[in-house]
Amino acid sequence: MTQNFDRNRILNNILEHIGGTPAVRLNRVGKDEGLQCELGIYQLTPAKASMFKCSKELTFHSHPPVAKCEFFNAGGSVKDRIGKRMVEAAEKEGKLKPGYTIIEPTSGNTGIGLALAAAVKGYRAIITLPEKMSQEKVDVLKALGAEIIRTPTEAAWDAPDSHIGVAKRLNQEIPNSLIPDQYSNVNNPLAHYEGTAEELIAQCGGHIDMFVASAGTGGTIAGVAKKLKEKLPNIRIVGVDPNGSILALPDALNKEGIHGYQVEGIGYDFVPEVLDRSWVDEWVKTDDKESFLMSRRLIREEGLLCGGSAGAAVVGAIKAAKSLKPGQRCVVLLADSVRNYMTKFLNDDWMKKHGFMDEQTKKVEEEKKG
Ligand code: PMP
Repeated sequence: MTQNFDRNRILNNILEHIGGTPAVRLNRVGKDEGLQCELGIYQLTPAKASMFKCSKELTFHSHPPVAKCEFFNAGGSVKDRIGKRMVEAAEKEGKLKPGYTIIEPTSGNTGIGLALAAAVKGYRAIITLPEKMSQEKVDVLKALGAEIIRTPTEAAWDAPDSHIGVAKRLNQEIPNSLIPDQYSNVNNPLAHYEGTAEELIAQCGGHIDMFVASAGTGGTIAGVAKKLKEKLPNIRIVGVDPNGSILALPDALNKEGIHGYQVEGIGYDFVPEVLDRSWVDEWVKTDDKESFLMSRRLIREEGLLCGGSAGAAVVGAIKAAKSLKPGQRCVVLLADSVRNYMTKFLNDDWMKKHGFMDEQTKKVEEEKKG
């Protein structure tokens, strides 16, 4: 499972371009929000002042918060990591053999990661996908050769017609088929424990005070958190959960109960097995409008072509990082790419239709552009 991030060579196939994503400073977004950590004015202690041979009053701008840009993975999201890893683990364990069919219930990105691995390795892939998920994801999945079955978004996770229920039925009906099952597969958090977290520690030189990620299966946050807490015991782990989902703790935060929302890939009406919430110190709830407006800012102000859950994560990071001190570093994970949402939040008409953009918000965006 070891990764080779040496880019000065020809890759054997595109699966080798999974992992090793860039960590990029957010130079404008946090600053505008008045964050102190890592972009605030750093007041020198007398000891440090004498070290730098300058007065204690001298102020520095230190580093901005850091974004781990997972949309640079081969299939466009953080879930490529687990798609590849779950397939290769099943092959090693003899559960997946040539001619077999991979079936997976997903909000799309795990499906794309699995379909990418299936395309390269020659497996059949069937993806069960709630209706809510974007046409862009469907088209990419189809282009990768996956077969897609849409399921009602409002079906409860344990209902027979949910994406999970339908995948289970197909698994029984299709001989030589396998559900990797991202909700319970240990390779989901392990991909982040061994990969994403190690990369972050190396990229940040071991200086991380807070890590923020939005949660779906929770594999990303649980896997990254476990490794970071082992290596950096004082780190704070912050989970981001959309209103309408019930992943956050304490439960009082989920006061809106289970209802629909537009941001894709995060939040659930059940707590997946891989989401060990004991690794998460704090949860922040977010809503659609602030998340999509933040994704548009990340694109426009930072040039980061990310998706909607990335906006939610940064909204959560900005709220949580207000507790950090000057000089401390917050790292936030941007899970997928705007490619999945070209006809959704990237589109002004879609934003207006859903009440996420009025004349005032449009004017503010235009002014910032200028
Ligand atoms: N953002 C997006 C866009 C996703 O597709 C997912 C995965 N469903 C996540 C965030 C959350 O990742 P995880 O499942 O590891 O919690």
